[in-house]
Amino acid sequence: MASNVLDFIYTPQCELCGKVLKHGRSLCECCDGELPRLRSPFCEQCAEPFDGKIEGKFQCPNCSELAFSFEFARSAMICDARTRDLVHQLKYHRAIHLAEELGRLAAEAFTDERFRPALAAGWPLVPVPLHRSRFQHRNFNQAAEIARVAANHTGLPVLAALKRSRATDTQTLLGRQERLKNLHGAFALTRAGRRQLEQSAAGVILIDDVLTTGSTAEACASTLRRAGFKTVLAVTVMRG
Ligand SMILES: [Zn+2]
Ligand SMILES: [Zn+2]
Repeated sequence: MASNVLDFIYTPQCELCGKVLKHGRSLCECCDGELPRLRSPFCEQCAEPFDGKIEGKFQCPNCSELAFSFEFARSAMICDARTRDLVHQLKYHRAIHLAEELGRLAAEAFTDERFRPALAAGWPLVPVPLHRSRFQHRNFNQAAEIARVAANHTGLPVLAALKRSRATDTQTLLGRQERLKNLHGAFALTRAGRRQLEQSAAGVILIDDVLTTGSTAEACASTLRRAGFKTVLAVTVMRG
């Protein structure tokens, strides 16, 4: 009875093709299977995909000139109209039901064998924080939602180790250098982050929806490294 009423009010449909689904799902198996996963070759530092054939390890031209504070960033999927749409729906239209699918997809990144030590040691997932003013406007932090679901799939704990220490201008229209300047001093360690450091400073895994220039991940990672964490890895749903 209760589920009939629910069906009447809200019939779950595939976000991409509109097919009617069971409760709890927002993507049909077909659309899910067709989403563009990140596959090698890609930059071993920032996960920028590379068109063509490359044998062995590879760094994109951008990364060969830069030193990041995170050891490497890994995205589960590359950007196309579908992945961009899913992330936008979650982020800007509060389609919170999509967090279940996007968190599950983010967890696929952990099949990359470079995560094996982090998985074995149980490093915590640290969502990139949203500034309070934006949080009030949006009511939820998409990175925290993705981390919560990815935690269920990987067995890793979630740790709110970072907070915004000041508001930042929106990053969307800025170039890489401007983004880094805009984010300087924007993050700080939380009390939970300090407690984690006392238990283990070995490493943490940053979680966000998208990695574009890497400047947000860099600002977070440098805050975590300066606080004392030895290694910072980053996982995003999509490579922007
Ligand atoms: Zn579908
Ligand atoms: Zn790169």
